Amino acid sequence: MSTATAYAKSLQSQPPRRISILGATGSIGRSTLDLIGRDPARYHVVALTGNRNAELLAAQAIAHNAELAVLADPSRYNELKAALAGTSIEAAAGDDALMEAVAHPVEWTMAAIVGSAGLRPTLEAVRQGTTVALANKECLVSAGDIFMQAVAKSGTQLLPVDSEHSAGFQAIDPKVSISIEKITLTASGGPFRTWTLEQMKDASPEDALKHPNWSMGQKLTIDSATLMNKGLELIEAYHLFPVEPEQLDVVIHPQSIVHCLVEYSDGSVIAQMSSPDMRTPIAYSLAWPERMWAPTERLDLAKIGSLTFESPDYERFPALRIAREALESDNGATTVLNAANEIAVDAFLGRRLGLLSICVLVAETMEAAVRAGLSKPKSLDEVLELDKRSRMLARSLLTELV
Ligand code: NAD
Ligand code: MG
Repeated sequence: MSTATAYAKSLQSQPPRRISILGATGSIGRSTLDLIGRDPARYHVVALTGNRNAELLAAQAIAHNAELAVLADPSRYNELKAALAGTSIEAAAGDDALMEAVAHPVEWTMAAIVGSAGLRPTLEAVRQGTTVALANKECLVSAGDIFMQAVAKSGTQLLPVDSEHSAGFQAIDPKVSISIEKITLTASGGPFRTWTLEQMKDASPEDALKHPNWSMGQKLTIDSATLMNKGLELIEAYHLFPVEPEQLDVVIHPQSIVHCLVEYSDGSVIAQMSSPDMRTPIAYSLAWPERMWAPTERLDLAKIGSLTFESPDYERFPALRIAREALESDNGATTVLNAANEIAVDAFLGRRLGLLSICVLVAETMEAAVRAGLSKPKSLDEVLELDKRSRMLARSLLTELV
């Protein structure tokens, strides 16, 4: 019997793995279900959650034979209930229902709710001690220390899903992590990589939503256009990997083939490469510590021809500098940064704020928060309180900017 056949047989004899997906209706959630749907016998879907899209969530729950479908928005409960009529799938809605869904015992949870709404449910999944595939960035950006303390306390296995961090996780040999000199995250540069400041001033949401390589949710696509996403990822990397902020770097790599480079003290650089398709890092987190087949385009380096790299332009993309300052100040500024950025992106999408003003609003909110006496939050409640205050501050500064 070949090794592959023996491996496939050994998997068949295992009971299906109990999994839940928080944020099932989003881009990451749908990609996760795409992978699971290709080998349904291996998975038992416990809970699927979404925000408001009852129709899609119900369709997903039916297609994947889930036990439970939960929407965060209680006003959509009746719609969800009606869509699930005649099935044995339980319907629920509201924040408490979401937390109860997380408490259902599973072996693996995909944490893919966007924004700070993902903080409580993801932290709860960590407290349950299940393996957590972490896509949500805010847990690390807004509440990094608290989140990582909870991970250490529960002994949960955290598997980063963000492509750069999945790449770093794959390239780091924990036995020699002391010898890491530098970790470099790559950034595609987004749709404005070659635009002048003058052109960027008038960029529309439609321009910003045209990402050259990746297909993602709206918020993240705008963050990729301002490079705030890479700033948030520096903060994520700091919490995930055994390095200091000054050991983290960013390089622009328009092809999005190399995702992260880990440099060791002997000069070796170990990098991970793959086509820009989130199903690779999701598959890695699903199969870890094994590997599974994923339906992604295989790399043909001869066809790609060249991989190019360039330094980021901090003048056109100040978000990188602002995020690094927030990380280094270690005073709660990353919580403020994240909250202000969510308000700014929302205003940009609603055409109330120009692209370049996103970073102006974020920087002004951070300055105002420091003047008001910023200190590092010590609990999730303090994070959520600071998040709320920062949003109010950003909203009031927004009215002065527009
Ligand atoms: P998305 O906007 O496509 O989906 C977000 C999901 O969260 C949806 O299921 C939505 O219904 C749910 N949601 C939104 N608001 C909610 C609320 N208030 N309460 C409960 N649920 C809510 O986003 P996405 O692109 O799938 O990204 C999900 C997370 O993964 C984000 O934090 C993002 O930064 C991160 N991430 C995404 C990618 C990517 O390629 N899409 C890559 C790396 C990291
Ligand atoms: Mg990323």
